[in-house]
Amino acid sequence: MSAPADCRSCGACCFSESPTYVRLLGDDWSALGPDAEHLAWFIGNRAYLRMESGHCAALVWQRQPEDGEVRFHCSIYERRPTLCRELGRGSPECEAERERKSEKVAQALAIRSTRLLPGRIAQTLS
Ligand code: SF4
Ligand code: SF4
Repeated sequence: MSAPADCRSCGACCFSESPTYVRLLGDDWSALGPDAEHLAWFIGNRAYLRMESGHCAALVWQRQPEDGEVRFHCSIYERRPTLCRELGRGSPECEAERERKSEKVAQALAIRSTRLLPGRIAQTLS
């Protein structure tokens, strides 16, 4: 399975049911700034990104004006956590994520695409 040219047409590694899926290190937390309040939470003394409806709370989707397709978008892309930065597109880990989760992602897109009206640019995948 070859990697997509653009992560925005995939999003697989942003999906998980685990509440401890995206661990935040100290620098990751600082980078989030005020967004940490609604995007992150603690278990004990460890911080994680919140997961909502089976995906990271920072994941949004957008209907592209040029072709009408719905694509994923990381709302904190420039400040995404170390864990996300280290998962390189096309790496073995990336391939494993896509193999494991492609069906779930396709289902989420199919269900939510119908709710995204053309006039709405972005919304969270809830
Ligand atoms: S890094 Fe890989 S699994 Fe993650 S969104 Fe990009 S292509 Fe998909
Ligand atoms: S922070 Fe961005 S790249 Fe990382 S899991 Fe969340 S939506 Fe995906």
